[in-house]
Amino acid sequence: MTGLVKGFAAALGERRAACRTTRRGLLGGFVGLALGASARGRARPPPISQQAAQYQPSPHDGMSCAMCTFFRPPAACAVVAGAISPRGWCKFFDLSD
Ligand code: SF4
Repeated sequence: MTGLVKGFAAALGERRAACRTTRRGLLGGFVGLALGASARGRARPPPISQQAAQYQPSPHDGMSCAMCTFFRPPAACAVVAGAISPRGWCKFFDLSD
């Protein structure tokens, strides 16, 4: 895991208690930075590992990836690497409006 991803994961962990709007803004900023870096010809930062995201293949308190703004059907996520189950969950969960 790169230092950038570790730093991002740590920052998100600290912000978990913050309101959803703030968390969404932070993640949106990360995605924007990644896209901007890619547009400028630099490599996009790797997605966060499932281990770092504390991903689990089962729901958490009734929340699951299928309800998350970062879920990309049928089995992917915008911020977490690898195959993602619609029934899974991780600490970056963000409820769709
Ligand atoms: S909860 Fe959201 S951020 Fe976490 S793995 Fe599932 S879709 Fe991705």
